[in-house]
Amino acid sequence: MNNSRFNALNTLQTRQDLKVDQPQTKVSAYFASNVFNKTAMQEYLHKTTFKSLMASIEKGEKIDPAVANDTAQGMKNWAMSKGVTHYTHWFQPLTGATAEKHDSFFTLADGKAIEVFAASALVQQEPDASSFPSGGIRNTFEARGYTAWDPTSPAFIFESNSAKTLCIPTIFVSYTGESLDYKAPLLKSLHAVEEAAIAVCNYFDRNVSRVSPTLGIEQEYFLVDLALYNARPDLIMAGRTLFGHSPAKGQQLEDHYFGSIPERVHSFMVDFEIESHKLGIPLLTRHNEVAPGQFECAPLFAEINLAVDQNQLLMDLMGKIARKHHFAVLLHEKPFAGINGSGKHNNWSLGTDTGINLLSPGKTPKSNLQFLTFFINVIKAFHDHADLIRAAIASAPNDHRLGANEAPPAIMSAFLGTQLTYVLDEIEKSNFKGGEKQVQEVMKHGIKNLPEILMDNTDRNRTSPFAFTGNKFELRAVGSSANCGLAMTVLNTAVAKQLKDFKIAVDSQIGEGKSRDAAILAILQEYIKASKNIRFEGNGYGDEWVEEAKKRGLENIKTTPKALAAFVSKKSIKLFEELNVYTKIELEARYEVALENYIKKIQIEAKLMQELVSTAIIPASIQYQNRLIQNLRGQKELGIDSKLYTPQLHLVEEISSKISTLKKNIDAMQKAFDKAHGEHSIPKMAEAYCDHVKGKFFDPIRNDVDDLELLVADELWPLPKYRELLFLK
Ligand code: ADP
Ligand code: MG
Repeated sequence: MNNSRFNALNTLQTRQDLKVDQPQTKVSAYFASNVFNKTAMQEYLHKTTFKSLMASIEKGEKIDPAVANDTAQGMKNWAMSKGVTHYTHWFQPLTGATAEKHDSFFTLADGKAIEVFAASALVQQEPDASSFPSGGIRNTFEARGYTAWDPTSPAFIFESNSAKTLCIPTIFVSYTGESLDYKAPLLKSLHAVEEAAIAVCNYFDRNVSRVSPTLGIEQEYFLVDLALYNARPDLIMAGRTLFGHSPAKGQQLEDHYFGSIPERVHSFMVDFEIESHKLGIPLLTRHNEVAPGQFECAPLFAEINLAVDQNQLLMDLMGKIARKHHFAVLLHEKPFAGINGSGKHNNWSLGTDTGINLLSPGKTPKSNLQFLTFFINVIKAFHDHADLIRAAIASAPNDHRLGANEAPPAIMSAFLGTQLTYVLDEIEKSNFKGGEKQVQEVMKHGIKNLPEILMDNTDRNRTSPFAFTGNKFELRAVGSSANCGLAMTVLNTAVAKQLKDFKIAVDSQIGEGKSRDAAILAILQEYIKASKNIRFEGNGYGDEWVEEAKKRGLENIKTTPKALAAFVSKKSIKLFEELNVYTKIELEARYEVALENYIKKIQIEAKLMQELVSTAIIPASIQYQNRLIQNLRGQKELGIDSKLYTPQLHLVEEISSKISTLKKNIDAMQKAFDKAHGEHSIPKMAEAYCDHVKGKFFDPIRNDVDDLELLVADELWPLPKYRELLFLK
């Protein structure tokens, strides 16, 4: 039968587990072998160059031209010793993917063939960037974009089957200075939060001179056999299934979670772990996730900038290695309706250069007060800027996930755990008016015993979008395909602003004669009260929470166009400008890019739906219907009692009725599509595509198609079914 679904199913029969060439040595022997890290630098750079480079990186200072030149030479020698022929600036434009343009080391000098890598090529480049999204920035300023070396993230070698390329992490900015990527604002937010956090840390410890946010990213994904994937145009073009009846067995048995990993999948995991390890990505865990066909991996946490770069690299790597194993990786947030979606859990904390995790309770009342200070400030920051966090995780695919099967809701709330809830309630109730004695009481009794309490009670709540998990916060609402640099930029900035305000408030009370502890506790008490409505310890997936959140006045923004608006609010512009993270122009540009991206995704899905319905679903349904009609004619000819074939007749009618409503909806959707396209502003256009195209037509069209899937003969159905996509490996 010439049906791509059955060809794919036949191909699947012949699949074999691909043996992975395991290095005959320990991981530690090849870990980061493709990274120009400190060890490689020490080997390939002059001592003075190395020292000066490290000092500049640490202090965030400009790198001396001579040092840049020596570094370029060392980098080239290192790369060439490993067989590298080309180099590229590696950056993260607003498309969400990474971008690169390869140049050869090889060139001709006076007709002589040589290999060169000048400092200028390391430090700055000008990709022909006219087709990266810039939200009008480049038009407005008629400026071109350039990429600039980020020495805080080490260069690495990306290996493909036939080439090795030196990749240099860079930021991407316009000539007028506006950032056009995810990395530049992230670096600015790191600077902002570091400065604010150091100032607050110094209340407790004068020796702290650096604070870096840390990030550990759990990455969820689905694997589908490549042949089945190729037989689903919706997976190829939209990354998700637009149709597909739920299978008799879905995830209700919950037998997949932490179950044994299928052999072929295991080989894939081993393979991409080896490649990740060579690239210095410290992947530690791998396991099955809740949904059938869903998996997760997580590295050891690192400084945010590196963690984000490594996650971008990891996503790229996964896709490439999966193909070798005849799999397609689905990073889409909701590839299958009715089944869990995928997220990217962002485990975030703050670490000092004195080796302290600021979100980890300590052993003394003083260190616990420091812990509580940061803990409560983060909650207050999350409370005050929940709208921005919501905006930062908004995307067309994440709309399907938030609030659906086992995904955090679109309502932003924070989970603390019973013990910390108790501690915060106690501080809230305390009366510090009595002066120093009472403050010391609280310090002694309320705060001293924190560590023991916490150690015994590692509360877990997997239904909260922002959960405290013992020594870090876990932002679980970020989408699996997202560049989480954006969400982290917003979180860092919100926390930076909060810590800055906290310092001003505490200093002012100290100025009025209060002791440091008394001032801190008084302000923390204020914050606990002010941010109380965002704390929720119950089941975030339940309907009761939706009701309760409404009563509390918390937003529940379900769609991307509405959520994104927070980026350009007065409050947001003021925040980001004050902390020097985004300018108003940059925010407006990003808002526009995100909306355009949303519009394009909806357009693609609408067009695909039309095409698949018209060219695959309706033809298959008619083909089956014709068989039924032929059968009915035969029965009539034979003079069989018409009552006996009435059910077949009804089946013919049911198919007719489905086809008829499908056709009507497809045509009406086209009209809504055209109307949306005619809207004059981008925000209006996005709203129209959201409410009048997707909102009105996607579900009804899908429902009819899914009904037909259960009516039409299996052998005629053109698209691989959920049971095949999810369960066959
Ligand atoms: P779980 O599935 O229980 O949430 P995982 O072990 O899968 O836990 O992931 C936890 C992630 O949090 C890991 O990437 C881990 O390295 C990271 N993590 C641990 N401590 C910190 C920290 N202080 N800062 C940031 N991330 C951290
Ligand atoms: Mg987790």
